[in-house]
Formats: sequence, structure tokens, C-alpha cells
Amino acid sequence: MNELHYPGDPDNLYEQTIAEVLATADFLNLPEHLRLILAQPKNEVMVHFPVQMDDGRWQLMKGYRVQHNNVAGPYKGGIRYHAGVKLDEVKTLAVLMTLKCALMRLPYGGAKGALKVDPRAHSSEELMRITRRFISALGNNIGPDYDIPAPDVGTNAQIMAWMADTYINMSEMHNRVEAKSVVTGKPLSFGGSPGREKATGQGLVFVLETLLPNLGIELTECRYSLIGYGNVGSWTARLLQDRGSKLQAVMDHSGAIRNPEGMSARKLAEYVAEHGGVVGYPGGEACSEEAFYQEEVDLFIPAALEQMIGPEQAKLLNCKLVAEAANAPTTPAGERVLTEKGIEVLPAILCNCGGVTVSYFEWKQNRQSETWEETEVDHKLQAMISEAAHRVHAFAESHHCSMRRAAFAVALQHLQDIYALRGIFP
Ligand code: NAD
Repeated sequence: MNELHYPGDPDNLYEQTIAEVLATADFLNLPEHLRLILAQPKNEVMVHFPVQMDDGRWQLMKGYRVQHNNVAGPYKGGIRYHAGVKLDEVKTLAVLMTLKCALMRLPYGGAKGALKVDPRAHSSEELMRITRRFISALGNNIGPDYDIPAPDVGTNAQIMAWMADTYINMSEMHNRVEAKSVVTGKPLSFGGSPGREKATGQGLVFVLETLLPNLGIELTECRYSLIGYGNVGSWTARLLQDRGSKLQAVMDHSGAIRNPEGMSARKLAEYVAEHGGVVGYPGGEACSEEAFYQEEVDLFIPAALEQMIGPEQAKLLNCKLVAEAANAPTTPAGERVLTEKGIEVLPAILCNCGGVTVSYFEWKQNRQSETWEETEVDHKLQAMISEAAHRVHAFAESHHCSMRRAAFAVALQHLQDIYALRGIFP
């Protein structure tokens, strides 16, 4: 780690992620230069810019765009708005995007962006000014052929529309049609793709449909609990409800609730849209965090933030399978406890790749000035995801390794193939 310029802190998220990348590279016997290239991002852009608030005060904002690797194509990855965001978190998410796109065989590299801001603390007008200033500060560090942002925690289709509009207005006249594809996850009426809003949850459901039969769990009878009821969590729950699965416990930033008889995912989504969190929902009873983790279920889905499942939480879990909808929700120490307990973990780069895959469909539609039907989007997504899930499962079976190791290996092999063909410029 030292020669790769690491802080040497085992609790550091970036170090945890790169340690797994390097261990997988060893497992595959990949060349040293690939290890060196992937150990640090290519570019780390940091911007500071002032924005005027509604009351006339000026506030200084800090934003990041980390571009990890672009050997497979333009950089691609979401932009997060969160008050507690840190550079190492953004670097980690950028690495995971490189791996996710490689695993899915998308023509993209990996990036991630973030703005240190609490979106709930600002009016819509302020959020628009903040977003426009951020995109103007990033300037040519993004572009439809270079680096293509998307939504993530704390950002949504409206914010993507402001980003695209700002970028279009900063572009040369003859590039303005293409400029729209600078971001994905836009609203439907402004170049968005049918099926993009639900895509990450939809992708997870397709992964589960492909792999659960191997683990002896049927979605029609599956009992599950969930952390996070934002875009990914609530869409996963609504789509699992259509398959007959039962949501027994859910926790978000407001607290935890449970109901062993099951809760209506759709009614809960309406409640959260109105009240801001799951606590107080009449279809469930409030419970402690400990009781939430101890709920006896088949499937546990973390769909909130990173590093939420450490050893303490892993010891409490009472499930057969963890499907990581959030990025990097399980720490290495947490995963060791889960493995000792015989709980299988499906890794995030497979489970949540539906979002970037439909983003790719949106980018393609924009470039061809087309709009596909939602059924076409779902059909293409299902085909690509089940192929990726089979690829990972086959590697894990043939190499007797975990699904996380297999997913990282399938991605790294693809990057190695491209580097072997392209070489290193200049
Ligand atoms: P979101 O902002 O819509 O929702 C985040 C959820 O996390 C909210 O329900 C919030 O209450 C909950 N949360 C925040 N802090 C919490 C805490 N301390 N304890 C419990 N819950 C907490 O975000 P999202 O878009 O749903 O993203 C969730 C995860 O999925 C993130 O890891 C993100 O990187 C990942 N992801 C998102 C997409 C996408 O398309 N949106 C794609 C791939 C991966």
C-alpha cells in the first residue's frame, strides 16, 4: 500500500476498496502496471465557488469531480449532494464506477462528483443557482464525449435538467443538440429515458430474479428488510411488491419501523414523499435500530450510504442473503462476520448497475434523437443484467470465491483486455 501512496488506515473507505481491487489483481495475476494505474484516479478536480442565498448572503461552496479511469470510454458517474461528503468517499465511488461499467461491458470509464451541501437546507431557487454555478465551475472538465454525470444521493431529475441547461448554454451553437447528453437521469420531457428513475431498483430486481433460484429463495415468498427509502430503496420495494415479496422492516435517516405482516411499498413511498421519512407511517410500528437489524428475513438490502454494515450490525443480522443496493455499504470487517455466519453477499457493482445501464440507454437515445418505449428499455436492461449476473456467478463457481471477488475479477479482466489492446499512451 505505501508505494501506492496510501494513508495506511484500515477504516478508510478508499483504502478498503483498493485493497480488494489489488487482492483481486493478485488473484488474477494481473500485470504490475495495471495495479499502479488503477490504484489512484487519473484526475481529482476540486472547485470552490460563491453563491448568493435568498436572503442576500453569499456562501462559498466546495465541489468535487473525480475521474478514475477512461480506458473503456468517457468517464461516467453520479453527482452527490451531501453535507458530509469527503474526497476519499468520492474517489471510492469513482473506482466502483470504473468496475461497474467494465462488469456491464458499457463503453464508459468511471467517475464520481459531489457537492458539500445539504439539499434539504436550501430553497429550490437556491439549489438551481448552486447547481448552475457548480456546472460553470466544472467547465470543460465534463462533456458528452468526455465525462457524463448522473443523479446520486441528494440529486434528482430536476437538478440534472439545470445541469444540462447550464452546459448547453455554455456550449458553441453547433454543439447544442449533442450537449444535452452531458448528463443522464434527466426528466422525460427534456431528453430523459423512460425507465431511468426506477432503473437502479429495477436492475436489482433483475439480479435477484437471476440469482435467487441458485440460493433456494423465491421472490414470491421472500421476506426482506431495507435501509434507505430514497430513489433506490423505494423503487426496489415497489418492484419487489409486484413480485410478491414482503417488506418487514425499513430504516432511513428518520428512524426504523417494522411490521411482520408486511408493509405496502407504494403507500410508504407516498408517505415518505409527504413527510420526508419513514417514521410515523401508520402501516408499521416504530422500532429500535437493534430490533431493525435483528428482524428475521430472507434478504437484507442496504440502499442508503457507505459503511453502514460493520461487524456490530453484521452480528445482529438474521438473514440468508445481503444484496448491496447502496455503494460500499458493507465494511471488510462486517463482511468477515457475515461470511462466518454463512450469509452470502451480492456486491454493489452488480446489484446497482441498473442505473448506469439505463443512463447509457439515455445517452444513446439522445445521440440518435430517439425515445424508446419503457418496455424496450426494461427488456434490454434485463438481458444485459442477467448476462452480467451469470458471468459473475460462473466465475465464483469455477474459482470457488465470493461473489464480490468474482464481480471485481470479471471487471478487471475486461480492463486488462482493453489495456493489452490499446497499450499506454504516449
Ligand atoms: P437518495 O438520496 O434518494 O436516498 C438516500 C436514502 O438514504 C434516504 O432514504 C435517506 O433517508 C437514507 N439515509 C441517509 N442517511 C441515513 C442513515 N444514517 N441511516 C439510514 N438511512 C439513511 O439516494 P439514492 O439515489 O437512493 O442512493 C442510495 C444509494 O444507492 C447510494 O449508495 C447511491 O450511491 C447508490 N446508487 C444510486 C443510484 C441512483 O440511480 N440513484 C445508482 C447506483 C447506486
